[in-house]
Amino acid sequence: MIRPALNRVVDSALFGDWEPLLNAAEGTPREKWGERAQCSASEPDQFFLDSDTPWVSPVEVRIKEKFALSAPMRVCRECPFSVSARCLVEALRQGDAFGIRGGLLASERSSLQRMWKLERPTEPAQMQAA
Ligand code: SF4
Repeated sequence: MIRPALNRVVDSALFGDWEPLLNAAEGTPREKWGERAQCSASEPDQFFLDSDTPWVSPVEVRIKEKFALSAPMRVCRECPFSVSARCLVEALRQGDAFGIRGGLLASERSSLQRMWKLERPTEPAQMQAA
């Protein structure tokens, strides 16, 4: 389960309003988010689950990987909100299809990823620079 604040901005994005997610990500600059990532000292492999792909049901993944998921999801829940939002935005920008990002499974991100590719939302800082 992702944290409620992130859940809200993800829900907005799924309805076509990217602004809350992009504004949240602005709180952590793209160049520095890795330094603030809660997972920076964690074993990376735990964020990649064999059964979690963009083509499967996230519900099935959560049932199947219940125990393997608890550790990485706990780390993501402890990540600062703006860092989680930045992590998710960067995953979408780079098209990271696999692994847990921003507290979302790969299977949970796939519809968001499709919408990102279609809509190509622009971050506020990029709009100011243009
Ligand atoms: S949200 Fe999770 S995967 Fe992303 S930086 Fe934070 S701890 Fe790492």
